[in-house]
Amino acid sequence: MAGVLHNLYLKSPGPVQDLAVSLYGAKLYFREYGSEFRKLLREFEAHAQYSQADLEAYQSEKIQQLVHHCYEHVPYYRRVMQDRKLVPNDFRRAADLEKLPILTRQTLAENSDDLVARNYKKSQLIVGYTSGTTANPIRIVWDKRVCLIKTVVDWRQKRQGGIEPFDRIAYFIGRQIVPATVKHPPYWRHNWVLNHLFFSAFHLAHKNMDCYLEKLAKFRPRALEGFPSTLSFLASYLNRLGQTFPVKAVFTSAEPLLPVQREAIEKAFCCKVFDFLGMSERVIFATECARHEGKHLDTDFGYTEIIGDEDAPHSKGFGRIVATGLHNYAQPLIRYKTSDVSSMYEKPCSCGRPFPRIHDVTTRDEDIVTTPDGRYLSPSALGTATKDLVSVEHLQIVQEDLHNVVLRLVPRPDFRQEELIAVRKSLQNILGDQVTIRIETVENISRTSSGKFRWVISNVPLKF
Ligand SMILES: [Zn+2]
Repeated sequence: MAGVLHNLYLKSPGPVQDLAVSLYGAKLYFREYGSEFRKLLREFEAHAQYSQADLEAYQSEKIQQLVHHCYEHVPYYRRVMQDRKLVPNDFRRAADLEKLPILTRQTLAENSDDLVARNYKKSQLIVGYTSGTTANPIRIVWDKRVCLIKTVVDWRQKRQGGIEPFDRIAYFIGRQIVPATVKHPPYWRHNWVLNHLFFSAFHLAHKNMDCYLEKLAKFRPRALEGFPSTLSFLASYLNRLGQTFPVKAVFTSAEPLLPVQREAIEKAFCCKVFDFLGMSERVIFATECARHEGKHLDTDFGYTEIIGDEDAPHSKGFGRIVATGLHNYAQPLIRYKTSDVSSMYEKPCSCGRPFPRIHDVTTRDEDIVTTPDGRYLSPSALGTATKDLVSVEHLQIVQEDLHNVVLRLVPRPDFRQEELIAVRKSLQNILGDQVTIRIETVENISRTSSGKFRWVISNVPLKF
């Protein structure tokens, strides 16, 4: 929702907000759930049966079309290609994209308008903002088709989890759906058209937990979707009570999913977690299959490279994700440098799908702790050290500099000091002797403006 409209929404009474959410749902229904959606879903599901070679041929064809379009209609790319004496026919397959420069966030911000295709009318552009935890989101634009295809790849994954369009889904995501000033339930709004119920991630606190669960029980969702932090918070509450809330599948994204969170969620909701990676820049989509062994890159949605320092291409080992969206012709982003880092699996998945996989360590570089002896610790690795600290409401690790780490915690009334002592010791073992750990007890740990909970923050720049 655009800024002005969203402010108006937040000032409206609850029932009006409910109606607004459903009206937005109706708009999405007509834009993204019609006959074209069903046709594309069939088409994209067929890609899962393709051979590796057929999938690569599909990708090459899409890249050729995209580069042609960029040369004809996108001033930024016309300029870049002319400067490098390149023509569209120089791009036959995905690897040829290396002839073009990496597109950084900064270049996107500086060339936002020049990256918009000139053969689009203003009324055909859909405005969004970049994802990420940084303070200044950049305006980006999509066309209808990329929005539709994003919905298609999203449903391709949901169907892997046994969930069909119009099944009841409860969402716990970062959209500010209920104003922060609201102090009483309802902390949720309905989209009656698509059968979705949106819970506010900003109001989920210990004291509100029972009313969230009561509403969930009334809604009877088949699936849940949300941030790992939010859903694991709810799951841990159920687990402590020895209760369960069975659903068919849980979908998580937008934050690193820690093994301990996955375990808590699967236990409480009696089903598997399907973690996925998406970005509002629409350059990458990566999803778990029913085997849950890493994430399949949806290579019919975007082309992905893993690069090292100095932007050197290197497909093996840990590196930064650079991705090209194949379907957004309104503002094409080629070789867009994301803030995510990961590595590729070498072997194909046992499920037989042709899509290559990336490791679960996918995360943002500001979430990775670097030790003085040069090791990189992902949030998952740190999570193994802190998993036994269960008598706290929230926990956050902040690396202030190479030698100083703060363990920030919000204790629960039943807080146990001995847990903290043990966890501090195992954290020290992981970080090494050259790092000093300071404990800080706080009343609250705030989320980012997009509602995400960053459980690890590192102020040490990452080098590969
Ligand atoms: Zn698989």
